[in-house]
Amino acid sequence: MDLYEYQARDIFAAHSVPVLPGRTASTPEEAAAVASEIGTAVVVKAQVKTGGRGKAGGVKLAKTPEEAQEKAAAILGMDIKGHTVHQVLVTQASGIAEEYYFSFLLDRANRTFLAMASAEGGMEIEQLAVERPEALARIPVDPIAGVDKAKALEIVTAARIPAEVADDAADAIVALWDTFVGEDATLVEVNPLVRSSDGDIIALDGKVTLDENAGFRHPGHAALVDKRAEDPLEAKAKAKDLNYVKLD
Ligand code: GDP
Ligand code: MN
Repeated sequence: MDLYEYQARDIFAAHSVPVLPGRTASTPEEAAAVASEIGTAVVVKAQVKTGGRGKAGGVKLAKTPEEAQEKAAAILGMDIKGHTVHQVLVTQASGIAEEYYFSFLLDRANRTFLAMASAEGGMEIEQLAVERPEALARIPVDPIAGVDKAKALEIVTAARIPAEVADDAADAIVALWDTFVGEDATLVEVNPLVRSSDGDIIALDGKVTLDENAGFRHPGHAALVDKRAEDPLEAKAKAKDLNYVKLD
């Protein structure tokens, strides 16, 4: 099950991954209220389960609550790659010095876990993998040994993340491993993982895929299902406890 960015953000926060304050809104008025609660410039972000929201006009900066209301009005109801925007995430805006890429994923072909990281984040990872494959570090992770601070620093170095933020980036990576294992995820991706203009490391965007086969260990995960976005056939199969995969 793929999660929305705001759900990934909440899970990150619970595992001590650095994120910015924020909350979802379903109406422009609510977005204005969240913006005044936060009290700084904010970013209004479309909540849809697809990437490239920024390019599609689904991520907008707002300096005031009034502006947040206008931006939310423009984004709510938008269609992004066939997904209708029902909610926006309003978060504190951050000045960005650098954008990195980071993910943990299940590497089925090699029967292991994999960390992928790059000091050149921001753009879509598929594009980076094609255009600058040497800039994308791929480090296998032994599932038994896991990721401690030393392993995280090895990943940071391979990704060529600058030394000044290596320690904080490694702490974030250990917290992301804790998220990956603790939630039984098959993917945890942060793009961009930023170095803010204040020098802090922050997960500015998040994508999490949960392993539904491990759902019995996580009673809380059932509440993360969005009935509105679920495929009706898959929902019907699930209700009957069938393992069903829809094909073209
Ligand atoms: P995606 O396009 O769906 O991957 O959405 P993201 O959450 O990654 O946002 C897209 C881009 O918007 C990021 O790569 C940033 O460049 C920019 N962005 C997002 N949040 C902020 C922020 O707080 N401050 C600034 N300056 N830019 C942001
Ligand atoms: Mn992103």
